[in-house]
Amino acid sequence: MAAADDYDFCGQIISPGTRIETSLKIGNDPLGQSAEIPVQILHGSNKGPKVAIIGAIHGDELNGTGIIHHLVHGDDHLPGTSDDHINPKHLAGTLILVPVANVEAMMTNSRTSPDGRDLNRLFPGSEKGNQSSRLANAIFTHIVKNVDYLIDLHTAPYTRVNVPQIRADLDDPECKKIARAFGTKVVMNSKGPKGSIRREATNIGVPTILLESGSSHRFEPDAVHGGVIGILNVLAKLGMIERTMLKPNWRILVRKFRWVRAPIGGILHTLIPGGAVVKEGETIAYITDPFGARVDDIISPVNGYVVGLATTPLVRPGDPIANIVIVREKKLQEIIAKESYDDQIHDEISEHDIEDEDGSTLDETEM
Ligand SMILES: [Zn+2]
Repeated sequence: MAAADDYDFCGQIISPGTRIETSLKIGNDPLGQSAEIPVQILHGSNKGPKVAIIGAIHGDELNGTGIIHHLVHGDDHLPGTSDDHINPKHLAGTLILVPVANVEAMMTNSRTSPDGRDLNRLFPGSEKGNQSSRLANAIFTHIVKNVDYLIDLHTAPYTRVNVPQIRADLDDPECKKIARAFGTKVVMNSKGPKGSIRREATNIGVPTILLESGSSHRFEPDAVHGGVIGILNVLAKLGMIERTMLKPNWRILVRKFRWVRAPIGGILHTLIPGGAVVKEGETIAYITDPFGARVDDIISPVNGYVVGLATTPLVRPGDPIANIVIVREKKLQEIIAKESYDDQIHDEISEHDIEDEDGSTLDETEM
């Protein structure tokens, strides 16, 4: 392998085979302090691709931050110990890690920036635009435009949980390659909403995948662990590290899904976990009145696989309860039902394209 040259990050020169902690300067805060986004760079000894991994574009979605922490420092959070996953001396290429993209949003436990805007609808941003648009511009100019691939880490909002799933434009061969390599059982095919970092980065030739896993406002060990494994799989696929890729035993490539919504307001009791296989006509949840009496049942309208689920009990009419991918084929239903909670690693992946003409696409409803 060819030895790497120095890496230049905003004028800071980084030697091959080293890790540095730095920041991307984005102006100043209301008290005049320097406003900065923490950035960690692992610059490999050998030449290879540049990959950015970004967490907390939505400030309350913390699992991505945890994933980046564990990726670099291992489960003990101690630098330089044997459980660290990546040693720059044995890395081919460069990792640009942004554990918290929207710092002010995170510090206020909020999805959005202090101006109330969703950063992930404002890429590529504008130098002279509003507050959030300038933040988007800084990230896009100094991080996105300087890498070959991007991984964007998200969770469901506080009221729901998402089964681990990669979202990517599967019509883009490079996106599809890293989406499949990541190794989640569910891969959602969509370009992403206009202004999302995923869509805009892919548009300028930086293939980008998005991980949705777990829920907001907390670190969830399973989501964090799965995210670390997925990233290592992608880095192995790109030839940046030496590692046997871990694969799921089945995978579904999905274009559409159904939202099942609360028919009335009340107190929700779900009867299934995320990742359940449900049958058409099956009662998946019920709603009680304030005295605890059951007043309505929520029925699955389809045979399918639950990729997202409400987790908080207070619901109003129309609130999303379950996000279900339709799985028509009986054999596939059986495979998924049997293996849903099986974390064993298999050599062969049973991969299925799920066709559904009736559901909605992520681009219509992504949040
Ligand atoms: Zn998000």
